[in-house]
Amino acid sequence: MPVKSIKELDIKGKRVFFRFDFNVPLDGAGIIKDATRITRALPTLNYAISQGAKCIIASHLGRPKGERKPEMSLKPVALKLQELLGKAVQFVEDCVGPDVERAVASMKDGDVLCLENLRFHAEETKNDLGFSEKLAALADVYVNDAFGTAHRAHCSTVGVPGLVKERGAGLLMKEELDNLEKALSSPQKPVLAIFGGAKVSDKIEVLKNIVSRMDTILIGGGMANTFLVCQGINMGSSRVEEDMIDTAKMILLSAREKGSNVFLPVDVVASTAIDNESAARTFNVRDLPANEMALDIGPLTVKEFVKEISKAGTIVWNGPMGVFESDAFKVGTMEIARAVADAPGFSLVGGGDSVRAVHQAGVSEKISYISTGGGAFMEFMEGKILPGVAALEV
Ligand code: AMP
Repeated sequence: MPVKSIKELDIKGKRVFFRFDFNVPLDGAGIIKDATRITRALPTLNYAISQGAKCIIASHLGRPKGERKPEMSLKPVALKLQELLGKAVQFVEDCVGPDVERAVASMKDGDVLCLENLRFHAEETKNDLGFSEKLAALADVYVNDAFGTAHRAHCSTVGVPGLVKERGAGLLMKEELDNLEKALSSPQKPVLAIFGGAKVSDKIEVLKNIVSRMDTILIGGGMANTFLVCQGINMGSSRVEEDMIDTAKMILLSAREKGSNVFLPVDVVASTAIDNESAARTFNVRDLPANEMALDIGPLTVKEFVKEISKAGTIVWNGPMGVFESDAFKVGTMEIARAVADAPGFSLVGGGDSVRAVHQAGVSEKISYISTGGGAFMEFMEGKILPGVAALEV
């Protein structure tokens, strides 16, 4: 079912409840260490202000678990918003109650009001009807621009949109949905997925869902070890998930049946321990000594992966190719990031570590789309219906 964009909603002079993801990292003194999540909300807010909407802003920050924790207040976010929007942002020290109702009642068209952290109320994460009703009573229209929390069924993502007359997606949410659908529902062929990261078990549902839709799958990082072991290769002292070997076999079998090509590392950079960077050496995967562990993909693998990436019409990437936090084991991930950026195909990168990797490689500008959702991105890739998106459908 379709989700309306904020541009299709009548918001002029209306009280609009905005759910943003302003879960920003703060230092102990209330200084925002990275304001990306706030800057990404500006197009939606500037549009709403220009249309004369009364903008009521709600978000969570951290996990206060129903308690009022000053270090998780949204006040620094309101101040930052004021600076970035170049206009007054009023802050209220709660998200429901008489003070909030009074503040909303005195808003003029184009005004911006920031509510306090939704999760200071335990009801928020329980999708409590009474709390949803209190929030919904503040607004005529609901707009969700928080893709990062769309996989959570909370009051502010699921309860409130069900109780207001009009609902829709903010510009960032719409952009996320359009790009994820472009990569997964109607992709330009050949479609290639790159998976990496620590464990098969974390990505199993994504792999199962995606294997039949991909023409090519490249597997690197720690999770490749389990796939190599299931092919009878001895991975020395590498991290292997014994309980995932059968699952890995099943995935390889299902890929073969569906005609998709799976590439595993042919060589690796290894050492005797993760912190023993100076002993890093490259081995063919079949020659890995018993006391060595694979910590990055090797140069031959990079070459093979890059060749496939350059041929793809669509590329989806999640998970680093090695322990990219260490200089000795980051080369594979950096090379893949550059190859994805240089590829002519449509590229989608999602998940915390892969996003960090493309920034670290300095190529984020050349990626077609970088998803802002970690857990939500993964659940979308798993083929799950995100409750926060379903709640917007009309
Ligand atoms: P994930 O959150 O599942 O994407 O995993 C990311 C983590 O996987 C990063 O912290 C990497 O250091 C780690 N990782 C990647 N490759 C390996 C490997 N070969 N051995 C151990 N850890 C790895």
